[in-house]
Amino acid sequence: MSLLITGSVALDSVKTPLQEHHDLLGGSASYAAVAASFFGPVQMLAIVGTDFPEKYLALYRKHGIDLDGLQIADGKTFRWSGEYEWDLNKRRTLSVELNVFEIFKPALPEAYKSTPYVFLANISPQLQMHVLAQVTAPKFIVADTMDLWIETQRDALTDLLRKIDCLVLNESEAREFTKETSLIKAGRLLLKMGPKYVVIKKGEHGSMLFGNDFFFSAPAYPLEDIHDPTGAGDCFAGAFTGYLTRADRIDHESLRKAVIYGSVIASYCVEDFSLTRLQSLTEAQINERYSLFKSMSHFDVV
Ligand code: AMP
Repeated sequence: MSLLITGSVALDSVKTPLQEHHDLLGGSASYAAVAASFFGPVQMLAIVGTDFPEKYLALYRKHGIDLDGLQIADGKTFRWSGEYEWDLNKRRTLSVELNVFEIFKPALPEAYKSTPYVFLANISPQLQMHVLAQVTAPKFIVADTMDLWIETQRDALTDLLRKIDCLVLNESEAREFTKETSLIKAGRLLLKMGPKYVVIKKGEHGSMLFGNDFFFSAPAYPLEDIHDPTGAGDCFAGAFTGYLTRADRIDHESLRKAVIYGSVIASYCVEDFSLTRLQSLTEAQINERYSLFKSMSHFDVV
């Protein structure tokens, strides 16, 4: 079973109080695709410029990611830079250069059109809709978004919500979108706007999954050393959708497991900059942390 992922591919510059790195592999589609690749085949639909380093294409290939939908266009790759405070939950975007993204109007390769599972990683909702309109036999569609689109493309985002099965967003975005301070109210309100499921990510405080007759709350892995939180949300959503694609069924059990696998991969991602940690991640390490999540949140009724 394949998973189609579209989103941004970026060259990121990231500054934390302790380190600074430039031209890192980033972008929502990069993080999501590599995270999902631990669970099965991934097709990537995105755009880069001619300056995109060959070593990053090699990294995608190493993860078995299908690159037929990765357009290499004349021009420069999308660039993003951000800076973290000592509280790594606080990030400031320093610059965004859209570059080749300005001309991105992807046509799905023939082999991608009938892919059953789709993850629309963070890009503009108009682009997410453009991709969705070309998908012919979707079984489960997950979408992510960000504050920028809530502020500038609320109507397009509202339209998108009616066409997807699951929305993944972080807590501040959920509050901003719904204008609710309570995350429980925000989750329920988002459900009423279209998707069957809503996942609200709370960073180091875990995540909550809402369904119409279903609620699941998961902790985050208590990591001591976080080096770069960039892409944690994209990894969560990529692994979440990747696991559901592998399970090929959507029920309470598979959704709970997907949330935990999402949290596991995200927890590894933040242990190093960019996708560095995921390069050496093994199945045994994924299973080990999955078991730790289980024992950590297990509750025996007395
Ligand atoms: P996250 O840490 O999950 O918010 O994702 C960080 C990634 O999002 C970085 O690698 C950026 O390249 C990418 N990104 C930042 N701004 C945008 C944007 N406006 N559209 C698409 N991707 C973006």
